Amino acid sequence: MRAMVLDAPRQPLRLAELREPRSEPGQLLVRVRACGVCRTDLHVVDGELAKPKLPLIVGHQIVGEVVGEEGRRVGVPWLGWTCGECRYCRTGQENLCDRALFTGYDLDGGYAELAVADERFCFPIPWGYPDLQAAPLLCAGLIGYRSLRLAGDAERIGLYGFGASAHIVCQVARFEGRRVFALTRAGDDEAQAFARSLGAEWAGAALTGPPDELDAAIIFAPAGELVPTALRAVRKGGVVVCAGIHMSDIPSLPYELLWGERVLRSVANLTRRDGEEFLELAPRVPVRTEVEVFPLEQANEALDRLRRGEVRGAAVLAP
Ligand SMILES: [Zn+2]
Ligand SMILES: [Zn+2]
Repeated sequence: MRAMVLDAPRQPLRLAELREPRSEPGQLLVRVRACGVCRTDLHVVDGELAKPKLPLIVGHQIVGEVVGEEGRRVGVPWLGWTCGECRYCRTGQENLCDRALFTGYDLDGGYAELAVADERFCFPIPWGYPDLQAAPLLCAGLIGYRSLRLAGDAERIGLYGFGASAHIVCQVARFEGRRVFALTRAGDDEAQAFARSLGAEWAGAALTGPPDELDAAIIFAPAGELVPTALRAVRKGGVVVCAGIHMSDIPSLPYELLWGERVLRSVANLTRRDGEEFLELAPRVPVRTEVEVFPLEQANEALDRLRRGEVRGAAVLAP
């Protein structure tokens, strides 16, 4: 099979012809129809996350057809395996499992024609979603959904960074009757117009701040300096959720910004329950994903465009 392989961090992926993987009992062999490109892939390729399996096939938003079961589509997400025994697994927090294995990081992922996944961690793809449009639901959508839940019942919600995840969360938040404020880099008129087209009532520069106080903020951009910016924008008792797996250092900040029972927290990974809930909700909204499609062998170009913030919506590879 053809695959894009990471031999070492900070190197471009290499197009390779590999032997077809085999599934073991309990695993599915999946013919990849689409694989979303996530910012986490960029962090892995750029060497910002410690100790990926090497060589590695990245990619953890896989939509594919199970080989030998015509018409059965599954989604393979970031959470690839958990131990089922640790204190986290036993208390509904499998996203924090000490021994978890992640797709496209500890396990080979979906920048390939075939992938193997533990069946217990795969999701059925909601009917009505074409393969390419379904792929971003599996991480951008799922992690966004978990972040939104952790933001509580906030009415006025600020989204910092308007990429793949925010463009989905914006639609879910509007469906739930919330008010959305999109905060982007100064001068990113295109992202701001995109946010307004998806129901944000205001879109502007993060540093200028929203016109109204926020009840909660979700930071999708990997920029630590947004933490004090977002804390400054939320009301007393409000929540700031950091949704990414990696962020540049957070600058020191006056305690006054946290005072007033403001909460600062991160979101790590997903549970299977998040996946079931979100994939049930998405068609009811209905969430429509905007995708930019690249052939498999252009994975490096897709990552470059994401790195430069040039992707509108989500980038998806089509093997
Ligand atoms: Zn565990
Ligand atoms: Zn992801």
